[in-house]
Amino acid sequence: MRSAGGRAGAIAEPIAPAGLAPTKSRRIHALLEELAQECEELSLEHLCDMEPHAAEEYLLSFKGVGPKTAAIVLLFDCGMPRFPVDTHIHRVSGRLGWIGERTTPEQAYELLTEMIPDELHYQLHLNIVQHGRETCRPSRPDCYACPISRFCDAYRNAEVEPRSRDSR
Ligand code: SF4
Repeated sequence: MRSAGGRAGAIAEPIAPAGLAPTKSRRIHALLEELAQECEELSLEHLCDMEPHAAEEYLLSFKGVGPKTAAIVLLFDCGMPRFPVDTHIHRVSGRLGWIGERTTPEQAYELLTEMIPDELHYQLHLNIVQHGRETCRPSRPDCYACPISRFCDAYRNAEVEPRSRDSR
């Protein structure tokens, strides 16, 4: 039988490319042990039958699960109306003017979840992350190629320094 450390090690291997594998694998292992004590099978399927706020509270009760992780699980696994805020969502929504300059990611999560129609959460989240990776990068965003520049406060107000047309 494998030791707890060995089982956490087995979890670490496949998640290594995402980084911080030793810490994450220990937390995942601890979470699975906790879940095993509560449920007959190691599954979070029952989450999707819960009311969104209750499901969120339940996930947040596990050590190592923060608001972003909980929101990602609820949106992508259960299709619940949640708008997780990662670094791309925070940057792009700030530039577009959807959130204020000083809005924290936690505040942005509350605001965007409320503001964006439920049926758009899933696809819009994916699209903004892709936009942030490919076009609206942290420095020198590709504003001249941006299909949504006409909706962008930062571009309109010259608050970003776009990549030059010549370097495209
Ligand atoms: S115009 Fe530029 S800053 Fe605005 S969303 Fe597009 S790439 Fe980002």
